[in-house]
Amino acid sequence: MTLADPTPSTAGFAGSTASPRLFEKHSPVTGASLGQFPIADSEAVDAAVARARAAFPGWRDTPLAVRLEALNRGRQVLLEHADDYARKIAADTGKPIFEALMFEIAVVPLFLDHYLKRAPKVLARRKVSTPLAMAGKSGYIEHFPRGVVGIIAPWNFPFQLAVLPVISALIGGNTVVLKPSEVTPIAGEVVADFFRRLGLPPGVVEVVGGDGSTGAALTRANVDMLFFTGSVATGRKVAAAAAERPIPCELELGGKDVFIVCADANLERAAEAAVYGSMGNCGQACVSVERAMVVDSVHDRFIELVKRKLEKIKVGGPDENADMGPMTFAKQLQTVERHVESARQAGAKVLTGGQRLARAGLFYPPTLLTDIRPDMDIYREETFGPVLPVIRVRDEEEAIRLANASEFGLVGSVWTQDLEKGLRIASRLESGQVMVNDVYSSVGHPGLPFGGVRSSGIGRYHGDEGLLSFMNVKAILVDRGKADYDPIWYPYNNKLASAFEVFRGVAGKKLGSVIRGFLGLRKASIDGHDGK
Ligand code: NAD
Repeated sequence: MTLADPTPSTAGFAGSTASPRLFEKHSPVTGASLGQFPIADSEAVDAAVARARAAFPGWRDTPLAVRLEALNRGRQVLLEHADDYARKIAADTGKPIFEALMFEIAVVPLFLDHYLKRAPKVLARRKVSTPLAMAGKSGYIEHFPRGVVGIIAPWNFPFQLAVLPVISALIGGNTVVLKPSEVTPIAGEVVADFFRRLGLPPGVVEVVGGDGSTGAALTRANVDMLFFTGSVATGRKVAAAAAERPIPCELELGGKDVFIVCADANLERAAEAAVYGSMGNCGQACVSVERAMVVDSVHDRFIELVKRKLEKIKVGGPDENADMGPMTFAKQLQTVERHVESARQAGAKVLTGGQRLARAGLFYPPTLLTDIRPDMDIYREETFGPVLPVIRVRDEEEAIRLANASEFGLVGSVWTQDLEKGLRIASRLESGQVMVNDVYSSVGHPGLPFGGVRSSGIGRYHGDEGLLSFMNVKAILVDRGKADYDPIWYPYNNKLASAFEVFRGVAGKKLGSVIRGFLGLRKASIDGHDGK
């Protein structure tokens, strides 16, 4: 099979089979309606899954090099459509066009480059070493695709958090049914357009638009794996549906990422990064800084620097040349308001921001909170908005203890000029990724696996692990097949003493004993087969 001639495939929004239910999308910038979008029902989801299943054998059997070549066409598609895509994603989410371009679109060729290089190595059959006690046999590990993968995406990075898992699954030979978020249906259409333009065979990527009911239908459909990115609450439902079958399920959930500032940190860089790491994408990132823990001796200076930098951030819509947009989802804005208000009432100080802006749209200003205590919601729960809560800690030990006492464990960072110390603290933090003197970068590094511990999720994507997540593992053992029988097979008579010799050799690491035992087993076997 070759895929050399790209013609538009069927990848696109599958609506309901009859007249679909619709939902309305409002602009986070102006509040105006941006149109109505169909909600695929379970019948439409099942039909999409059936098309993906029909496409699976052909795509699985397409050579890896041809699959990679087909996906690599994405580079050209993005070169031609990046401007249009970035503007549509920005209108849908409210984020600056700069962020739509850099964090949603530009990461795709970066990951494609990496996988073009790594996939042939990672997915190749590899030999494993075989113990002497199994001499004459060889062991291999190879991988084969799961089948049809159901991928459910969130709204905060609606392009890249849909496209990257889909590409990772496709590389391994899976076919995919993708459900984008109903909060960002325009970006969902952009994703469908991107895959349509790759000219993949029909059914290789199906996109079903809709809300939570569509996602739930996908979890119940005839898929072989679920890959979910979103909230912990929905993640639990997805995992429960996967357990019913049972099928593998990967969960990329929320975070309460820590940012530990040591006394010897480059404070200027740390303050700049705390601002960027908490306000980028309007704080709506699972990798956002959600708890800055600052050692007492530098706390006040750090606060001073951060406050000044936060107040310089220009807030506005995508057409206002702003640094930070509105929030994307009204419900998330309510969470931010609840967290800030309850923290304020419990004694937190609001040093800047702290109140919704008096204009249309979902605008909330950069907000800095101090005097945060562990009993506050904002300390424990994911806020997912433009708020930086700062916690004063006695020393680094206290910061590590508090960081690890969290329900979450997605990403963390350590700020120190002593890189050895930075690495030591990184090793002690219980989270999926840790950076030393950086924010955001680890999730953008295509060679690093991404995912969380505890309530932040199960499984990894990105890096080699991100390809293997979508694969079944197969172990193969080969015997040359020359001998008519193996010495440990029937009959067992007269073999016990030699078996003990082998066992003592293996357990006691005595090579001579292993060899003597095997020679004894072999002789007893030959005698047994000769009828002696
Ligand atoms: P969400 O759980 O509300 O929705 C995510 C997706 O699940 C949407 O497509 C939604 O329609 C679908 N869904 C809703 N109910 C469902 C059901 N019963 N069964 C199946 N699917 C269902 O999450 P969200 O608000 O879109 O995303 C924000 C959350 O995602 C935050 O908690 C954030 O931290 C997390 N997130 C995690 C990562 C990561 O990689 N770890 C990345 C981005 C966002």
